[in-house]
Amino acid sequence: MSEQKTHKVTLIPGDGIGPEVTQAVVRILEATGVRFEWERYAAGAEAFEIHGEYIPAALYDSIERNRVALKGPVTTPIGGGFKSINVTLRKKFDLFANLRPVHMLPGLETKWPGVDLIVVRENTEGEYVGLEHEVVPGVVESIKVISERGSTRIARFAFDYARKHGRKKIHAIHKANIMKLSDGLFLRCARKVAEEFPEVVYREHLIDNTCMQLVMNPFQYDMLLLENLYGDIVSDLCAGLVGGLGLVPGANLGTECAIFEAVHGSAPDIAGKDVANPTALLQSAILMLHHLDEPAAADKTQKALEKVYADRKILTRDVGGTAGTSQFADAILAAMAG
Ligand code: ATP
Repeated sequence: MSEQKTHKVTLIPGDGIGPEVTQAVVRILEATGVRFEWERYAAGAEAFEIHGEYIPAALYDSIERNRVALKGPVTTPIGGGFKSINVTLRKKFDLFANLRPVHMLPGLETKWPGVDLIVVRENTEGEYVGLEHEVVPGVVESIKVISERGSTRIARFAFDYARKHGRKKIHAIHKANIMKLSDGLFLRCARKVAEEFPEVVYREHLIDNTCMQLVMNPFQYDMLLLENLYGDIVSDLCAGLVGGLGLVPGANLGTECAIFEAVHGSAPDIAGKDVANPTALLQSAILMLHHLDEPAAADKTQKALEKVYADRKILTRDVGGTAGTSQFADAILAAMAG
C-alpha cells in the first residue's frame, strides 16, 4: 500500500438509496489506510435543480482530471424525461467495458452455493445508443447499433481478463438466429478474437436458453460476454443467483477513465430508510482499490466483508438480517479493526 499517495476520486452519491450506501462505503474506504481526496458532485434531477444541468460541466471536468469515479445510482425517468446519466457518462468517457463479477459471499443461503461468474457487458452500443423515433403515429423504431470495432474490443477485453485472471471459459450470448446481422456481427468478432486465446474455451449460447440454463445450472458458465441490453438483463438474473441486487458490483472501464458503481438502481422503494445494503457499492469500491493499485487495502476490505457475512450476525434485511445500512457499515469497520 502506498501510504503517502493521495487518490483524488470523483464521488457521485446519486439519489434514492445512493447517498446512504455511498456514505457507508466512504466511511469504510477511509478506514483502509489509503488516503482519498473526494470531489463530490450531484447528478441527475438533483443537479438540475442546483445547476440547471443534469450533468454539471464541473463533474465532467473532475472525471477527466481524476480518471476515476465512485458512483451511487442516479434515477432514470421511465418512458420519457432526461436521458440516463449512467448511459451518458459511459458514452462520454467511452467506458466500453462493464465488468460485473457475481460471486457468493460466505454465510448466505442460496439455491446454488458457490456461484462465481464474470459478466462482461458491452457498454456503449446496442439499443442503448438511444436512436428511437416515431415513424408515423402509433409506430416507433428503436435502432440497435452493433459495430465491428465495438464488438471486437469488448471480446478482447473479456479474453484478456480471462487470461489475466485464469478464467477457463467464455460464452458469447446472443440471438443471432433472429438478429442475424447485428448479433451475427457480434459473434463473428468474438470468434475471431477467441482464435488468439486457445487456452480459453469459447462457446456460444442463445440468450433465452442462457436464462433458463443459469437458473437450472449456473456452474456450466464461467464468463459471459454480452452486448449491452442482454448484459443489463442477465446481470440482474445473475444477481438473483447470489442473493440479490444488494450484493453485485460493477466497473465501467475505458482506456482513459473508470467509473465504479453497483449493478443496482436507486431503489426508491427503500430509499431514506437506512435499510439498503451497501455491499454492492462496497464491492465496487474494492474493484476500485485494485484499479488504484491498492491491493492490500482491497484485500483487507474484502476479508472484513466476508467475515461479517460469515458471522451472520449483522446483515441487512435483503439478505435475511435486521441491521440498517450504517449498522452494517459499523460491523465492517469493527471487522477491519479486529
Ligand atoms: P435500474 O433500472 O435503475 O438499474 P432496477 O430496475 O434494477 O433499477 P433497483 O432500483 O435496482 O431497480 O431495485 C430493484 C429491487 O432491488 C428493488 O426492490 C430494490 O429495493 C432492491 N434493491 C436494489 N438495490 C438494493 C440494495 N442496495 N439493498 C437492498 N435492496 C436493493
